Amino acid sequence: LFITLEGPEGSGKSTQASRIEKYVISLGIPCVRTREPGGTSIGNRIRGILLDPEAEEMKQRTEMLLYAASRAQLVEEVIRPALAAGKVVLCDRFVDSSLVYQGYGPQWDMDEVLSVNRIATGGLVPDRTYLLDLSVEESAERLVKRGKGVDRIEQKGEAFHRRVREGFLELARVHPQRYCVIDAAQPVDQVFEELRKDLDSYLKK
Ligand code: C5P
Repeated sequence: LFITLEGPEGSGKSTQASRIEKYVISLGIPCVRTREPGGTSIGNRIRGILLDPEAEEMKQRTEMLLYAASRAQLVEEVIRPALAAGKVVLCDRFVDSSLVYQGYGPQWDMDEVLSVNRIATGGLVPDRTYLLDLSVEESAERLVKRGKGVDRIEQKGEAFHRRVREGFLELARVHPQRYCVIDAAQPVDQVFEELRKDLDSYLKK
């Protein structure tokens, strides 16, 4: 079972990912949790380049290919072997983040992003995707509270982040079978309860 979490920064993806991981393991099911960009040694090095606030000269095409490169390594090194071993794989961001951050957000050709990513993943698609939906305002507020410096993507401005949110919601509309949209403005426990209930029906299949 291949599960992905999507949503903006501050939506609680990593908090929920770690809770889901604990939950799945508590059921006696082996689970691998990973994240993008990164998740492998090569991927983490690519992540460093991608998020460097000083890499201002990075071109859109370069950015898209670097995300795809990190993903290609993750799919072959971590995700496919784990799925083949019957494990649950939980990935914090996947292709949909690229469609949104490298496609919708910068108003880039979506088909191009999609075809590059088909090559990167060899066509691997998640079984279930949880979108932790959060308003642009709330996401920005949480980032300020977190007190973390902004990375290169976070510097991209409000219009960009509005398109990102709209892009995720659009993907959820286009793929209603795969997507489950959760209101991430709710308290952490409530978000997890919704997730867990939905996930249960997949784990018991
Ligand atoms: O999920 P996380 O906060 O670790 O993501 C790190 C950064 O990478 C975020 O700023 C996110 O917006 C960005 N990102 C991106 N394109 C992707 C995946 C992540 O711009 N495909």
